Amino acid sequence: MIVNTARTSPEHVAVVGAGMAGLSTAWFLQERGVRVTVLDRTGVAAGSSWGNAGMLNPAFTVPLPEPSVLRYGFRSFLDRSSPVSIPPTVDRQLWSFLLSFARNCTARRWRRAMAVFNELNRGCLAAFEQLTEGGVSAPVTNADPLVIACRDRHDREHVLEEFARMSASGGDEARFETVTGDQLRELEPVLSAEVRTGLRVHGQRFINPPEFVRSLAQAVHDRGGDIVGNFPVARVVERGEAGVELLSSGTSQAGDTVRADAAVLAGGAWLNDLAQPFGVRMRVQAGRGYSFTVRPRAMPTHPIYLAGRRIACNPLGDRFRVTGSMEFRAPDAPLDPRRIRTIIESARPMFSGIDWNDRHEEWVGSRPCTPDGLPLVGPSRSPRVQIAGGHGMWGMVLGPLTGRLLADAMTGNGEDPLIRHFDPLR
Ligand SMILES: Cc1cc2nc3c(=O)[nH]c(=O)nc-3n(C[C@H](O)[C@H](O)[C@H](O)COP(=O)(O)OP(=O)(O)OC[C@H]3O[C@@H](n4cnc5c(N)ncnc54)[C@H](O)[C@@H]3O)c2cc1C
Repeated sequence: MIVNTARTSPEHVAVVGAGMAGLSTAWFLQERGVRVTVLDRTGVAAGSSWGNAGMLNPAFTVPLPEPSVLRYGFRSFLDRSSPVSIPPTVDRQLWSFLLSFARNCTARRWRRAMAVFNELNRGCLAAFEQLTEGGVSAPVTNADPLVIACRDRHDREHVLEEFARMSASGGDEARFETVTGDQLRELEPVLSAEVRTGLRVHGQRFINPPEFVRSLAQAVHDRGGDIVGNFPVARVVERGEAGVELLSSGTSQAGDTVRADAAVLAGGAWLNDLAQPFGVRMRVQAGRGYSFTVRPRAMPTHPIYLAGRRIACNPLGDRFRVTGSMEFRAPDAPLDPRRIRTIIESARPMFSGIDWNDRHEEWVGSRPCTPDGLPLVGPSRSPRVQIAGGHGMWGMVLGPLTGRLLADAMTGNGEDPLIRHFDPLR
């Protein structure tokens, strides 16, 4: 991997994608004195960074490919109500992603990737502190505690085993207590009697994703950055010493071409088309997730994870966001209402006092998943075209830290060896 061989910092960088990855990179580039222009085909937080669960949980941030996920995936072929959904007709590109993903679902590869995640998990919350101390006004709230709600001991054991595996791989010990359902209901009366046990996990945080990403965009703007919506980048052209040109397939207030010294491609699940011509062969596959909000009678104040059901819920003030599902389809495919129904059927028994028919903000968004579970962060074949993406399940919690790593590497501001694990050309 070559990182900024010239060791000269670009003066002006164009970032493609106004999600968590792109905006974090833009913000940290500004910290290093770089002028930024952020281009988005729609606008701020138009992708996965909008309707996600907003959990910043270093205690749970683990690589997606692992042996149990593989078993789960195969079951989903047979069970259409499974939270993991693979379409019955799989195209060539999806096959090749799934095969490559399956090859990474071994205990040995998981441990290797986990060793990298351990390092990320140690630094990810500090990167949020830098953002909030540097002018991002949206709060990063202490979950204190994060509530893990389980139907039975079996679900709880699964979480405890995950903690044990993480710590055996060199990760920090999670701080938690195992508790009864009643103890959890004291904290969150919205939990039903079906919740018989669970955990209180400490040291975790959460955000309101759209609010946080908008406020990050505002901070980038306030520091002199340009944020341009309705600018679908169709092509990036490298012009050697003259830098790069980004050509739009439409017309916007910025015209149809933006020139800069370098580009950062942070297009989420849409990354492939722009990155491939620059030698990035690893495919980013949309792992689509769904969410909606409800208004429980007893509004929760802690994030709640329903272990065993893979449903994460986040209190957003006057609304409660429920998220789940992993559907391997094209990122622009329409929302499938059956996936929402599957989430409701799975979540309903675990809560009381929620009118599930009174739903708002139904949403589908695409986690940008890589087959080995590690993000793509660093230079493409051209040092003028950099990549920031592929964070899969964890782009909110890891976006700021990896944005900082990339900004430092691009500006010759000390290269953290961690970034080498994310080589986009691997
Ligand atoms: C249901 C669900 C729950 C989740 N929960 C969590 C969680 O609790 N914690 C966590 O850390 N992560 C979570 N995630 C994952 C997280 O949302 C993603 O990893 C993260 O948002 C990815 O950010 P991104 O900036 O790479 O992509 P995106 O947010 O998708 O942004 C990409 C942007 O690029 C733009 N774009 C694409 N192509 C072009 C182009 N050619 N020209 C111009 N613009 C372009 C898009 O419009 C979009 O705005 C969840 C995801 C889902 C779906």
